Formats: sequence, structure tokens, C-alpha cells
Amino acid sequence: MQWGVYVHIPFCKRKCNYCDFASYGGREEAREAYVDALGVETLVRGQEMVLKHGRPATLYMGGGTPTALTLEQMGTVMALMKSVFGEPEEFTVEVNPGTVDEEYLKKLREWGANRLSIGVQSFDDDILKRLGRIHTAAQAEETIRAAREAGFENLSLDLMYGLPGQTMEILKDSVEKALELAPQHISIYGLQVEEGTPFYRDQQEGKLALPPEADTEAMYDYMTEFLPEKGWRRYEISNFAKPGLESKHNLSYWQDVPYLGLGAAAHSYLDGMRLENVADLDEYINTIKSGSLPLRSEEDPSEQHHMEEFAFLALRTAKGLDKKKFKETFGKDLRSVYGKKINRLVREGLLQENKKSISLTKAGAKVGNQVFAEFLL
Ligand code: SF4
Repeated sequence: MQWGVYVHIPFCKRKCNYCDFASYGGREEAREAYVDALGVETLVRGQEMVLKHGRPATLYMGGGTPTALTLEQMGTVMALMKSVFGEPEEFTVEVNPGTVDEEYLKKLREWGANRLSIGVQSFDDDILKRLGRIHTAAQAEETIRAAREAGFENLSLDLMYGLPGQTMEILKDSVEKALELAPQHISIYGLQVEEGTPFYRDQQEGKLALPPEADTEAMYDYMTEFLPEKGWRRYEISNFAKPGLESKHNLSYWQDVPYLGLGAAAHSYLDGMRLENVADLDEYINTIKSGSLPLRSEEDPSEQHHMEEFAFLALRTAKGLDKKKFKETFGKDLRSVYGKKINRLVREGLLQENKKSISLTKAGAKVGNQVFAEFLL
């Protein structure tokens, strides 16, 4: 069976102003204990999966900032991953500029990582500062260069749009700079102002000067047109890759492939069930110390729920929702379940349909959430 592993490292040097991910700025004193607890969870749940299903095809270590771990701590985690999961075909580690040097990256490569996802966000120093990032544009460039030196041939860069102070010109400069650095993959995210973040507070106080909505939309249009013109394939709403270099791990999330999530706040999708680990760092460590697994909730989705999720996850991808796969999974024709909705969305120009699949049109991708909501039964 094909399956993947997600490993969560919930530490960052400090929190960015927009971030509501499960991560802690600082907490250096908890890192050793976290590495130990993660080791126990990996041995117990990881080995069980390997025994049942063989070795995973992909492994993705994200956060937080995995590279906020010291080299020694990271070495411990990587050794364990290798001993339990072997050498997955795609092994990605998220890296933030300002946390690694060439030596660190060389070690990551030596220990089995073969792909890096680098959180650049922008090549404009004023914007990076406003975001609360810990690095400059020059440091991001330096990290990319060092990654190449360390032997990484597969690099993904994260960029953001709709940021305070960002104009179309600034965004274009960042995208062009990114292309000059020749990555294999680019992920582009629009800023979401999430409750509880410093940006949210600024917004409440009228201190967050975001670009006008029309400008943000124009930025989105620019990227979705410019990158494909340059030979990039947009294979998912926010993800672009050189042909054949799509992230196998990310694709598996959208294609109903099972995955095991390890670490605080990690989610798993196994045997048709959604599982979630406790998100609180101390609770995660203490639960494992006390000899229990840190699973917080188990959701055994009804067939209806599984169908909805199957549909809108697949619709995020360029390949779209495969009719044959839907029938194999649920024993029903896609059209017998969603026929009327598909017809209407096709008429409205938001979906396109061929013999094999349905997928979002360009107009549909812009209002993706609205289309996905139509697939709730
Ligand atoms: S580096 Fe990433 S995970 Fe960490 S605070 Fe910034 S946005 Fe959040």
C-alpha cells in the first residue's frame, strides 16, 4: 500500500506576525524532551505501520521550523526516521533561512533528506520585517545557494502575496528573483489574517495596511498566468512545479492516500479514519512520558463525509476528480451523486468535465472554497 509520513517539529526562533500554525517561539528547554517523545511515538506507531504496510513512499518534516532544532537534535530525529522508515523516495524537510548554514544542510542531505521546502515568502526586506520573519532576502538567497552546495537538487520555495506594503511591482520582483534561483517547485499563498495573531490585532486597531482587494486579485492573476507561461505547471491551487517535479507527498493528501502524522498537532489519515495528536507541546510530551499515545480525537467518517472530502481534496489538483477512482472507492457513479451540481457548475464556468474527470476552470480556482462547498452533501 502506498502511504506517507508527516513529522511535525513545533519550534520556531520566534513567531511570525501572521502565524497561527502549531508552533512555539523559543521553548528551547523543551526541545530535548520533545525529540525523545517523538522518538517513542515513531517507534511505536511508525514500526506498526511499516510492519502492516511496508515502507512509506514519502516523508515530510514540517513545522514550525524543523531546522530550529540543533544539529545534534536533528541528527537524533533523522537517525530514527531512517531506522524506522528506510529511505523514502521523496524526503522533504522544511527549512527557514536564518536557521541553517551549509554544514547543517550537508548533514540533512547525508542523513537522507532529498528535497527542501524553503520559507522565503518575499525577497523584499521591508516586507519580511513587517511579517516578523527572522531573515533578510539576502539570507534566503544564501540558504538556496548553500542548499545547492549541499547537494539538494530538488528545492521548493514558498512565496506569499496580498501582504502589507506589497505592490504588484514588489511581488513581480520576488517572483522573478525566485525564478532566477531556479527552484523545481514554488508554493504561493495569499495572506490570511487569522484570529489571535499580531496581524489580527493590528487589523482590529486599523493598523494593518493590506493591499486593496483588486490589487490582491491582480497579484493572484499575475502568478497564475506568468508562471505557466514560463513552463511551470500549476498542479494544485497554490502549487507550481516543473513537469515531473510535483511534490509526491502533497499530492498524496489530495488523492486519498493514507498518511501517518507524528508529533504534536500532527494529523493522520489511516484506514479511512482521521486522527489528530494533541496540539499542546507539554501535553504531548507528558502523555508519551506516561506511557500513552497522544491521540486526541478519532473521527471515523461516514461514507458521506468521506465522499465530500474525497471530492474537494481531488478538486484542488489540476488532474481533478477522477470518475473511475470515485467509483472504485465508493461503488457509485460520480454523476449519480453529484450530477446536478456538476451540470450547474459547468454551466456557470466554474468546472470543466471530460470523460475521465471533472476539474476546476481558471474562474473556478479563484473561488475554490465556494465550489468545494457545493460538494457537501
Ligand atoms: S516560521 Fe513558519 S511556523 Fe514559524 S512562526 Fe513563522 S510562519 Fe509560523
